[in-house]
Amino acid sequence: MGGVEVSVLIPAAGNGERLGLGPKAFLRVGGRTLLEWALSPFQGAAEVLVALPPGLKPPRGLRAVFLEGGKTRQESVARLLEAASLPLVLVHDVARPFVSRGLVERVLAAAQATGAAVPVLPLPDTLIRPEGEAYGEVVPREALRLVQTPQGFFTALLREAHAYARRRGIAATDDAQLVRALGYPVALVAGERTAFKITYPEDLPLAEALARTWNG
Ligand code: C5P
Repeated sequence: MGGVEVSVLIPAAGNGERLGLGPKAFLRVGGRTLLEWALSPFQGAAEVLVALPPGLKPPRGLRAVFLEGGKTRQESVARLLEAASLPLVLVHDVARPFVSRGLVERVLAAAQATGAAVPVLPLPDTLIRPEGEAYGEVVPREALRLVQTPQGFFTALLREAHAYARRRGIAATDDAQLVRALGYPVALVAGERTAFKITYPEDLPLAEALARTWNG
């Protein structure tokens, strides 16, 4: 990603409530914090901004600018966006340690070409809408995708999308939703299974195992 004018934005201000082990940014996997893992595929980036939980001291020795995050992911990204100074942004959740440089390059190239791009995956399992405690209607999985990060955007477009969402009271779990709500199309690129989000306690042993052989 060397030479591309891109600001990398890492919302890392969550409290990791579902995992129950404190803020994920400081959780260790394979001897490194999730924040260190999250930063590693972006080493050539011209600017890296990280939102941390209020009151937490920024770690030393990392090449990044640290800001205080907001109450929600969306607010944390909005704060990071305000501070971004380059025409493109890549927004990446701190909870996804295993992102290859290839994935970053794919998202970046598509974002440069179209203004908005995200990585997605097909779903491997059968999907249903449960009826109470019982098996319900099957939802065709061919029609669905899982959405990952990093997500890439023209900075001005994502700012406009966040401003629009604020005015309309739209709350979203990722940034592409806000761009789409504005009426702008978001391109899809191939995601990676290894870029899974550490969310539940049983994700940790998987991450530890992958960390032993990972070389991005
Ligand atoms: O909780 P969830 O999985 O949606 O969090 C996604 C990302 O958003 C995580 O990297 C988390 O640290 C970040 N986040 C944030 N500020 C918040 C809540 C979550 O930066 N207030």
